[in-house]
Amino acid sequence: MCTRRRRMSRGGSSLRGADEALRRALDDVRARCDVEARKAADPVHFVHRYARRDDQEIVAMIASSLAFGNVKALCAKIEDALARLGPRVAEIADDPAAVRARLAGFRHRVYRDEDLAGLVIGTRAVQRAHGSLGQALTDKLAASGNLREALGAWVREIRERGELGAGAGGRRGAEHILPDPSKGSAVKRILLLVRWMARPADGVDLGLWDVPTSRLIIPVDTHIHKLSRNLGLTERTSADFRAAEEITAALARLDPEDPVKYDFSLCHMGMLQTCPSKRDPEACEGCGVKPVCRHWRRDARRRS
Ligand code: SF4
Repeated sequence: MCTRRRRMSRGGSSLRGADEALRRALDDVRARCDVEARKAADPVHFVHRYARRDDQEIVAMIASSLAFGNVKALCAKIEDALARLGPRVAEIADDPAAVRARLAGFRHRVYRDEDLAGLVIGTRAVQRAHGSLGQALTDKLAASGNLREALGAWVREIRERGELGAGAGGRRGAEHILPDPSKGSAVKRILLLVRWMARPADGVDLGLWDVPTSRLIIPVDTHIHKLSRNLGLTERTSADFRAAEEITAALARLDPEDPVKYDFSLCHMGMLQTCPSKRDPEACEGCGVKPVCRHWRRDARRRS
C-alpha cells in the first residue's frame, strides 16, 4: 500500500493508520466515559467543592498528595483532613500553629500529621510569595523551560517553606508526600495535580494554571502503565518518569496540543476493567481499547 493511502487525514494534519486507529479508540473511550460518576470516585471532586482559587489550590495539593492506595480509603482520609481544616483552608493555612493543632493525630499510610501540616503550610507560603501556587510553577517554567526541572524547583520551595521533612531523619512519609521529580520516580501525584489545575475546565480539570497543555506530562499509575504497554505507547517495564515521557510523546502524535486529555477516561476505564494484560475473552469483554490492544490486534486486522 502506498504511503499516501496508509495516511489518513485529521484536520490539517495526518496520522499513520495505526495512530488513527488508536486515536479513534481513545476518543471513543473519552466519549463513553461517565464523567460525573467517575469524578465522584476521583479525588479531584474535593477540589470542586471550593469556590476560591486559594482554597482550591491547597485542597488540590492535599487531595493529590494523599491519592495513594485504595481509592475508597484515600478519599476517606482526604475527607478527614479537609474536615479538620474547615471551609477556609487558605485562611487556616496562614496560621502554622493552627494547622498543626487541627491535623494532630492524622495518619494515612506512611504519612503522619507533621507531613501533611508541612505540606499545607509550605503550599500556603508559596501562594503568598508568588501570588498563587500556579504562578510559582509558571515562574519556574519560564526560568528553566523544562517542566521536570521547574517542578523540581517548585517542590523544593514548597518543602523548604513548609519545613517538610525537617527533623524527620529521612522518614519515608516526609519524603514521599511531595517527592522531588529530579530523583527519577514518575511523581504521579504531582503530575496529576498539574493536570487538574492546568488543563482547560471540562467538568473534571479546572483550567486555573497558566501552563500550556502541550507541556503537560501524563501521571502514570498502574492502570495507565499497564494499558500503555498493551497499546504500545511504551515498552518500559518500570512506571518511572521516562515511561511517563514516552507515553506522553506517543499521545502527542494524536493531539500535540493536549496529549494528557486522554488520562482521566483511560485511567478510570483501567480502574473498572481489571485488565489481565493477556488475551482473556471474559476479562477483555467490553474493553474500549480492545481493537488496538496488542493482545487482540491481529484479530481486528483479520476482520477488516
Ligand atoms: S483488551 Fe484486554 S488485555 Fe487489552 S487492554 Fe483491554 S483488558 Fe487489557
